[in-house]
Amino acid sequence: MRAPAGSLVRYDRLFVGGEWVAPLDGGLVESIDPATGLPWAEVGFGGPRDIDRAVAAAREAFEGPWRRMPGWERAALLRRLADLYREHAGEMAVLESRDSGRAIREARADLGAHHHWYQWFASLADKISGRTIPMDDTVHCFTTRVPVGVVGAITPWNAPMLTTTWKVAPALAAGCTVVLKPAEQTPVTALELARLIEKAGFPPGVFNVVPGYGRDAGARLVAHPGVDKIAFTGEGRTAKTILRNGADNLKRFSFELGGKAPHIIFADADVDQAVNAATSSAWAVCGQSCALGSRVLVERPIYDRVVAAFAERARKVRVGMPLDETTHMGPQAHAEQLDKTLSYIKIGRSEGAELIAGGGRLTDGPLANGYFVAPTVFANVANEMRIAREEIFGPVAALIPFSGEEEAVAIANDTTYGLTAGLWTRDVGRAHRVSARIQAGIVWVNTYRYIRWSTPYGGFKASGWGRENGLEALDNFLETRTTVVSTTGQFPDAYAQ
Ligand code: NAD
Repeated sequence: MRAPAGSLVRYDRLFVGGEWVAPLDGGLVESIDPATGLPWAEVGFGGPRDIDRAVAAAREAFEGPWRRMPGWERAALLRRLADLYREHAGEMAVLESRDSGRAIREARADLGAHHHWYQWFASLADKISGRTIPMDDTVHCFTTRVPVGVVGAITPWNAPMLTTTWKVAPALAAGCTVVLKPAEQTPVTALELARLIEKAGFPPGVFNVVPGYGRDAGARLVAHPGVDKIAFTGEGRTAKTILRNGADNLKRFSFELGGKAPHIIFADADVDQAVNAATSSAWAVCGQSCALGSRVLVERPIYDRVVAAFAERARKVRVGMPLDETTHMGPQAHAEQLDKTLSYIKIGRSEGAELIAGGGRLTDGPLANGYFVAPTVFANVANEMRIAREEIFGPVAALIPFSGEEEAVAIANDTTYGLTAGLWTRDVGRAHRVSARIQAGIVWVNTYRYIRWSTPYGGFKASGWGRENGLEALDNFLETRTTVVSTTGQFPDAYAQ
């Protein structure tokens, strides 16, 4: 499956029904290394007929061995997978770094934690249960929770393995089977995950991977009548298309979409700590994460100090080749994203925001052909500006001044998104008052981006439907069946009189 092909690494097979198969549709597509702009791998892309094959394999597994397997056995397989994942996380981090341009130190920290998801959801696999509902003594009423069936998982390029792990671990724990369609820009680690799942000994068809384009492989997965549920992470615009295309058979959907998070710093905060969090959460993953605090709301008495600290910190960020251990920030993951970020920097300037750091592409020395952007800071941003309203997905921080709690809350909530938010204050009352009014799925107080397997994550408003992580994640993959059993067997004749 993985073989050197000239100077390119070749992944020419799909993982379907427990076998490595050549695509029926599609063919080999080059994967570009965003640090050099050159291809580094060739990947077999599938199309509609490959999706059909994968869904058939997933259905067969779901109706067969997987459905019959008790929860504790699914748990044992997931634990084996967790061990393998931990063992191979270092190699997978290197592959993710090459495919997406993410700095290796970040990729290693991220992928180095994913085994916890498999372990934690393994611990739930044999504890999925319903409840007894007290009724009168003529019936016994209870619920059972049953897997929803075949899941189509569709993932983005910015955090390929994280978004995959968040779906696959709970889906398999719940007893579903999965067809994964990774993003076309970053398909490689999904195939490596398939190798680990194969090695762990999961029955054939429980997990399948078909790399391919959204418009054909993705669209077929969404429209396929044999898919019971779509678990999607990506852009809101794509989610709307998916909803329309999946409407015909009313399948289930969960969506993890974009964000434009407010990161609020009150004047009474520990400003040094707040700046640590706000700068790292503006530029992590080269700005390409839905969780980042891209709108930094700063109370006026400390505004100038925070602006100066951002400018100073921007100069310290080491932008460089992703596999260099000293690199803080790699390139944008692909050429279109580079163009998008540069165009928003132009928009910010034309809207009258004050550029105080960065503001362009970096092309010095080894960076010449990669998609590198300097960490960028705009000050005196108004929340009405497009750079404060639209998701840029680049390393661009927008610093917005405010006065007092009311204005902070008003600006924070004045967005179509509602995924994450942060706030910094030493006043415990204010921490509770303000966090309770923020319209976001997760609010961090005096910290940022604290995310674990057990902490529910997902969006209010246009940031999504449903929650990943935590006990809530299982709800995405389960149906509730209510059973009512008569204790008497008597049923009156409605037409007796
Ligand atoms: P995208 O919507 O362009 O693509 C995501 C996936 O959808 C890809 O696999 C793509 O091939 C597929 N796709 C595209 N068109 C499709 C169609 N018609 N039918 C089925 N599948 C289709 O998103 P992206 O640019 O890869 O990712 C960036 C977006 O993801 C950002 O908006 C970001 O905020 C969001 N995101 C959200 C979270 C979260 O947890 N909320 C996490 C990471 C990324």
